[in-house]
Amino acid sequence: MFLLTHRLPIVPSHSLISSLTSPKSQNLFLYTSAFVSKSIASPLCHFSTAVAQEQEQDHDNDHVQGKEIRPLSLEELFLPPETDVSSLKLDAAAPLSARILKGSNIVLSKYAGGGVDVEAAEFVKSSVRTEDCPADGAPEFALVGRSNVGKSSLLNSLVRRKRLALTSKKPGKTQCINHFRINDSWYLVDLPGYGYAAAPHEVRTDWGKFTKDYFLTRPTLVSVFLLIDASIPVKRIDLDYASWLGQNQIPMTLIFTKCDKRKKKRKGGKRPEENVQEFQASIREFFQTAPPWIMTSSVMNQGRDEILLHMSQLRNYWLKH
Ligand code: GDP
Repeated sequence: MFLLTHRLPIVPSHSLISSLTSPKSQNLFLYTSAFVSKSIASPLCHFSTAVAQEQEQDHDNDHVQGKEIRPLSLEELFLPPETDVSSLKLDAAAPLSARILKGSNIVLSKYAGGGVDVEAAEFVKSSVRTEDCPADGAPEFALVGRSNVGKSSLLNSLVRRKRLALTSKKPGKTQCINHFRINDSWYLVDLPGYGYAAAPHEVRTDWGKFTKDYFLTRPTLVSVFLLIDASIPVKRIDLDYASWLGQNQIPMTLIFTKCDKRKKKRKGGKRPEENVQEFQASIREFFQTAPPWIMTSSVMNQGRDEILLHMSQLRNYWLKH
């Protein structure tokens, strides 16, 4: 069992807000009740009747089949603002479970939809300081995670360009804030990876300071997408990162990557579902309610459309408040 040596105050995830400099973000996730639109303009295939679906892979014949695992309780679900759970439960035509994104704890709200498809994606600029980032006020989502977590692969899969993320892997750009403009209306932001063992300690510390300054002072940051490798056991550095974001009230979504990879049991490896659950259990004590999380695989394209739907509801809510 993984233990943290320090404890942080309990943070309600519905109040995971950028409280310091972002007046817009201050309202994000503050409200959890109102009503849910019955006409979310999104394909139903993104919804699931069970919260997490386990794909049991038969290594001998490469056969993959869907298998349901434990449904999540209401407390474990991420309810976007203005989502009325009681009406969902009463409405047989739209049960709560039908509004949960596949392989996640994320309930869709009336804000989901609109501009979900990525029609245009272009690299805009690399910035060395938060002040140098684009100043057009468009909402943005920051991708961050340990080096090798699969950040570039996810970015490429989201925008469906094989090599777009290579732009931020070019020399001189790996330590920068790299902005990619999507559909001419919002940004995906590639931040420096952390925990790269080969980097000199000073450089690693600088990356930390630099990224944290961005989190704390960027007014157009809607949410951080923290990538966690689900194919390996829970890492202390990732727990610390999630805790730091929670403690500083930075809105966060956990993206579990490489969920297609499964180690053989006899080698002591755990399946991605087990690692995901262990991570949830380890951070539960720091949050009053569950932060949003989703299981993904860039290889299988798992979670791609669901992430874009989730981004759409966060973005639309942010734009209207
Ligand atoms: P980054 O350093 O975080 O940008 O990570 P990359 O996207 O470069 O990926 C690191 C390694 O993990 C590469 O070898 C990728 O092929 C591999 N990888 C990335 N995403 C996945 C995934 O979803 N499934 C599997 N099996 N491998 C992945």
